[in-house]
Amino acid sequence: MKVRVRFAPSPTGGLHLGGVRTVLYNYLFARHHGGNFVLRIEDTDQNRFVEGAEQYIMDCLKWCGLEPDESPLKGGLYAPYRQSERKHLYKDYAEQLIDSGHAYIAFDTPEELEKMRAEYRRDDNTNPQYDHFTRGLMRNSLTLAPETVAELVEKGTPYVVRIKMPEKETITLTDMIRGEISFDSSLVDDKVLLKADGMPTYHLAVVVDDYLMKITHAFRGEEWLPSAPVHVLLWQYLGWKQHMPQWAHLPLILKPDGNGKLSKRDGDRLGFPVFAMNWYDPKTGETTKGFREMGFLPQAFVNMLAMLGWNPGVEKELFSLDELVQIFSLERVHKGGAKFNFEKAKWFNHQYIQQTDNAVLAEMVLPYILNGINLSGNIRLTTYDLRLIEKIAGLIKDRCHLLTDFWEQGHFFFATPEIKEIAVIRDKWNDQKQQFFTALQTKLEQITDWNHDALEASCNELAVECGLKKGDVMLPLRIMLVGGKYGPGVFAIAELIGKEETIKRIKFVTG
Ligand code: GLU
Repeated sequence: MKVRVRFAPSPTGGLHLGGVRTVLYNYLFARHHGGNFVLRIEDTDQNRFVEGAEQYIMDCLKWCGLEPDESPLKGGLYAPYRQSERKHLYKDYAEQLIDSGHAYIAFDTPEELEKMRAEYRRDDNTNPQYDHFTRGLMRNSLTLAPETVAELVEKGTPYVVRIKMPEKETITLTDMIRGEISFDSSLVDDKVLLKADGMPTYHLAVVVDDYLMKITHAFRGEEWLPSAPVHVLLWQYLGWKQHMPQWAHLPLILKPDGNGKLSKRDGDRLGFPVFAMNWYDPKTGETTKGFREMGFLPQAFVNMLAMLGWNPGVEKELFSLDELVQIFSLERVHKGGAKFNFEKAKWFNHQYIQQTDNAVLAEMVLPYILNGINLSGNIRLTTYDLRLIEKIAGLIKDRCHLLTDFWEQGHFFFATPEIKEIAVIRDKWNDQKQQFFTALQTKLEQITDWNHDALEASCNELAVECGLKKGDVMLPLRIMLVGGKYGPGVFAIAELIGKEETIKRIKFVTG
């Protein structure tokens, strides 16, 4: 049987890194087994519809290089892949469930539901459910006479269809990661399957579509485990038990301290992204930062995510997507949650930055450099070429963990720096140094072939002539050129910023 897996997001907002990891494990599993990876948009809850969220999800998958074989955009044998466009399909299945006695019609208004909850609210049951106990007290096709039900339906009274959960039954599920899991049916409420507007809820739609789309394996986050008994029963009640996919509920991604699920708020609080890409929420007008815009390479992001909850069984940590496809197996996915560690995420990115060819890196960092130039009030270069950026990238990449670091670490190549550490120069200033730097300007002026070695030779020669050690002049020179005590080799910097700019920066400090 051909492996078919699906990622089935509801387009309600930014794509959390947990969601991307679900995509990744689906993708790796499908590719490993020569199967198909389906993207299905679960947009049946129109109250939660968010403009742009579906496109955003597709863009995230594209950025990560985890593109589906079948999707709303690509189409496929089982189209449409957007549940709102499949609305007409679900009603028949809801009716089938009513006819077989596994579901029923309920007319209760929101006020009636609230009244029931208020009446049964106790300290040990703060949110009474519509379940095997309360359903006998409500207005539904189990309590009303058939003629009354027919009359109400006839009159157009709004109603929902609910699953009739059995009492005291043990529902078991074999999870590929967790093994056998049992649920007590008495603790599960009678979930709505079809809403008053004729739209299915997630519970009905997910089962119908996994069946119709011939999904063989369903991987999703652990937070869906409480819904699993409802789904297992629906597979059974619809007569499809033998086609039920194999489930795997993936472990949560936890806060860095391991205390609960990582949320967007943790990211805001601790200063790291939790969404794959920037997410602009049209409802609040707020933009939440993503890994992409923070300067992550998609390959590094994907590699980091693969290791968050799965181990390859070897020491090695860096794997290309193709390698991951080769070695991925669900048996090595952990049961326990995985703590997110931003420093480790940056470590992965650093490794990928080092591996990336400088010319390719130049193209990647260009937007960050342009942004820096735009924001900088002190622009020196208004034109630059990629060859120059390539050289700069090669010089500073070992200092960069994020693509945004290329501006932090290399801004002085493009803009005249502010001399932040002037005190370091002043504290040890003396006549000899003044003499050296004055003479240096003349000496540099005379260099015809402006390159690293020529600069170094002139500087060393002059230091000896002035009775100074190389160490005495290198730090002040660095601060004059860079503004602080960091950066790559001083002569490499001088070579790239050019003669005129080098002399100008020395003159600015030493007169
Ligand atoms: N629509 C659900 C979500 O938004 C999918 C859960 C599942 O994969 O079954 O995550």
